[in-house]
Amino acid sequence: MIYFDNAATTKVSKEVLDSFTKALEIYYFNPSSLYKDGIATLEMESKAKKQIANCFNDPSFEVIFTSGATESNNLAIKGVCYRYRRNGNHLITTKIEHPSVLNVFRQLEKEGFEVTYLDVDNKGHVNLEQLQKVIDDQTILVSIMFVNNETGTIQDLSKINSIVRKYPKIIFHSDVTQGFGKIPFDYSFLDLISYSGHKINGFKQSGALLKKQNIDLVPLILGGGQQNNLRSGTQDVPREIALSKATRLAKENVESHYAYVKTLKKHLIEKLKSMDSIIINSNDEDSPYIVSFGINKKASVVVEALSKKGIYLSTKSACSSKKEASSYVLEAYNLDKKITENSLRVSFSYQNTIEEIDTFISELQTILKTIK
Ligand code: PMP
Repeated sequence: MIYFDNAATTKVSKEVLDSFTKALEIYYFNPSSLYKDGIATLEMESKAKKQIANCFNDPSFEVIFTSGATESNNLAIKGVCYRYRRNGNHLITTKIEHPSVLNVFRQLEKEGFEVTYLDVDNKGHVNLEQLQKVIDDQTILVSIMFVNNETGTIQDLSKINSIVRKYPKIIFHSDVTQGFGKIPFDYSFLDLISYSGHKINGFKQSGALLKKQNIDLVPLILGGGQQNNLRSGTQDVPREIALSKATRLAKENVESHYAYVKTLKKHLIEKLKSMDSIIINSNDEDSPYIVSFGINKKASVVVEALSKKGIYLSTKSACSSKKEASSYVLEAYNLDKKITENSLRVSFSYQNTIEEIDTFISELQTILKTIK
């Protein structure tokens, strides 16, 4: 099997699994318990949080464990809006965010917030002039993703930050799910950061929100007040330990994996360029982990045919590939309808090889020739 769908999810690594099973044996106590082993379990949670904060280059980040980036995005956005509503009513995001961001903003609009969805250019970059024009003293939150999950487009968060920081009241959030552990980058200037364990060889339903200490959030989940009242419910400390392990490994290897995956992308792009009727949507400066390209056949039929050959990839993002035919992300890039409806997404991991790409290309050529 050739697995080219690592933006959808990744396989849990042996190291992460080992740290989890070991922790399950030792730290199965309720971290709110007052006896020795309960306290030790709580200490392990604090250690895991510290390790994660360090991986994001600022030990003062408060880490809130969540069920993944979807929950982290919900907590960050709703948490800020409900807490700071008195400061202003205006929110800024982009047209190409993940649904776990976009759908939260759509709900907030129904609740009376005013939301600007920034345009992107035909390479997917946020329009900074538009940002400068719409940002004002009524704006309380800017939420812009780092790496797009369908195309690999990287936003210039540092430049955006320099615009946002002219307004000290504004909180800057980023969903870095497809960037952390993939693109070497220092995220520590952000106020709120969402990421997910299962994109970095950790578990599904496992992620975190990192928050600067001076920011207060209205929690989504109320109960016993665990995790500093920000996310109630008995913590799954072994799962938290596994996430901190996955996070540390991703951080330690980010440079070498990035360099290697760049060679994979280069090879794939060269091969695709030599084929007729392929239009490459991704650009050189994008994440090497994601390559999107348009084909002249029905994308879902090609995905199915490739799957029969043991090659797994997506038409766009896994979250929306079963829904509408056209990609709202590619539509925002103003691409031709044929492409927004018929694109494939190859998403790499450091475990993929050049040989796998060659096999894929040869199967793809045959399939494109044989299907109608
Ligand atoms: N944001 C982005 C950019 C993603 O790619 C994903 C996963 N598809 C998510 C958020 C949601 O993450 P999770 O599955 O952990 O909820």
